[in-house]
Amino acid sequence: MPDQPEAITPAQSTTAPATSDAIVVGSGLAGLVAASELVDAGKRVLIIEQEPPVNFGGQAWWSFGGLFLINSAEQRFMGVKDSLELARQDWFGTAGFDRDEDEWGRQWAEAYLHFAAEEKRAWLRGMGVKFFPVVGWAERGGYTATGHGNSVPRFHIVWGTGPGVLTPFMRKVRLGSEQGLVDVLFRHRVDELIVENGAVVGVRGATLAADDAARGEASNRDETGTFEYRAGAVIVASGGIGGNHELVRRNWPKRLGTPPKHMLTGVPAHVDGRMLGISAKAGARLVNEDRMWHYVEGIENYAPVWASHGIRILPGPSSLWLDATGKRLPVPLFPGFDTLGTLEHIVSTGYDHSWFILTQKIIEKEFALSGSEQNPDLTGKDIGLLLQRVKKGAPGPVEAFKAKGADFIVADTLAELIEGMQKLSPDAPPDAQQIELEVRARDREFDNDFSKDAQVNAIRQARHYRGDKLIRVASPHKLLDPKAGPLIAVKLHILTRKSLGGIQTNLDAQALNSEGSPITGLYAAGEASGFGGGGLHGYRALEGTFLGGCLFSGRVAGRAVAAL
Ligand SMILES: Cc1cc2nc3c(=O)[nH]c(=O)nc-3n(C[C@H](O)[C@H](O)[C@H](O)COP(=O)(O)OP(=O)(O)OC[C@H]3O[C@@H](n4cnc5c(N)ncnc54)[C@H](O)[C@@H]3O)c2cc1C
Repeated sequence: MPDQPEAITPAQSTTAPATSDAIVVGSGLAGLVAASELVDAGKRVLIIEQEPPVNFGGQAWWSFGGLFLINSAEQRFMGVKDSLELARQDWFGTAGFDRDEDEWGRQWAEAYLHFAAEEKRAWLRGMGVKFFPVVGWAERGGYTATGHGNSVPRFHIVWGTGPGVLTPFMRKVRLGSEQGLVDVLFRHRVDELIVENGAVVGVRGATLAADDAARGEASNRDETGTFEYRAGAVIVASGGIGGNHELVRRNWPKRLGTPPKHMLTGVPAHVDGRMLGISAKAGARLVNEDRMWHYVEGIENYAPVWASHGIRILPGPSSLWLDATGKRLPVPLFPGFDTLGTLEHIVSTGYDHSWFILTQKIIEKEFALSGSEQNPDLTGKDIGLLLQRVKKGAPGPVEAFKAKGADFIVADTLAELIEGMQKLSPDAPPDAQQIELEVRARDREFDNDFSKDAQVNAIRQARHYRGDKLIRVASPHKLLDPKAGPLIAVKLHILTRKSLGGIQTNLDAQALNSEGSPITGLYAAGEASGFGGGGLHGYRALEGTFLGGCLFSGRVAGRAVAAL
């Protein structure tokens, strides 16, 4: 049985020492990893968190627990040949670093690749983290060898998903608090970093009223008092900006066109980006704020936890992807190939949504939903439930969305399906003739075992990978094959998620000022630091690199501060 959250969440400290060795702002994964390293070194840590204890662990608790590893035992078991060189080729081809301020991001990328190839798996396994044996293939690219994407599957799902990644660090922090090394102040919101003689020496902020909101729900911002704490160093691990649509729109890059009018939110409300501005006021340099990672396969959660709560479909490659008008997306914008390329294209159509058309046979094998709560088998480590994935029928949570989700249409005939799509989108009804043309043209390409259609070829080619054939890619078939039905259409929305830029840091996770010099006493980790260096991903990501980036940058920051 996985640990229950209350068993691994430390008690709220009623008082905290006026000074500690380190203050960590934020109890998400990056903050907890940094704090764990400090506890291991016998240091006194104060964790300051604006949310109630129920949110301990931040976004990672909700996450799918996918981790990017290079040449792992799981990959080898699945017949995948990977190497540091191949991963480096993929990373740099994907990142497209091209700015002066990428100087530290590049170095962090190189260091992270070594971590993912050499240390990460053994380090996590040493703390009891295990992996699901079938490695997933995210961001497949579809361009050339030096372009965007993973050449091979590298998405390793942690047994226990997001909570499984967090648990060892939550336990360490809890133990540290029982040993008197850690204090945690929940409902404390940092509003200012205290700067004296050019060094960051502590934090000031407001205490917030108690709140019994459930995990992920927005909590109140009613101030009940103020606080001030000092320490040898402050580590900012406050997450990104994905919950703050205003900031997302303000930072929206020109290259991705006009910011969408309608977006769903893929992160809890606490991902508010406030701490970035506060860090900048203390002299930290923010870089690459226009680099973000939002998804294009968002669906409205029929049981929302936070406002406009969206869930991301992690799609296999077979669904037909149409724009709002019913026109097929261009090559290689197939499901799961190039997230930002697809985003750029969708925004260029002048609409904020697009459509998948698929069959029951495809949904059963190819739809996974990102999020710990959407994968009770993997999160709950329930093998009986897990085995149902290889049986007929879609996983329970996917079926539930099909039945209750506002974005799903199920029909026996194409005409009925199109009618349903038009009804669901009265302001922008897709063109029935165009959809019919696209579906029938695609289906004709299945008359032979070979085809000119790049997506049809990609589907066939994917099944050469054992993992895809087993649980991820449906056997090739025509959409209008009645045996594969019923037909399904899904209206897809843009879903905000990750920030790829943030506080620029050097390889010791020290925050840098506008001259590029380290600010004494100020460190940053996790999404707040663009996962290291102010942007180790560059423009795009290979997936599973966000939790991994929190693990790596949190560890670097914790170790650096412990060594002071
Ligand atoms: C549904 C979902 C699925 C995901 N799946 C994956 C996946 O499979 N693989 C992957 O690599 N990544 C995944 N991610 C992304 C990953 O979970 C996050 O990028 C990562 O957990 C961010 O961790 P963090 O510690 O940097 O920030 P957060 O988890 O956001 O934690 C920051 C904390 O700081 C607190 N805070 C902020 N400002 C203040 C302040 N001023 N004062 C006090 N406290 C403050 C916040 O309340 C929060 O608790 C997923 C994310 C989601 C939401």
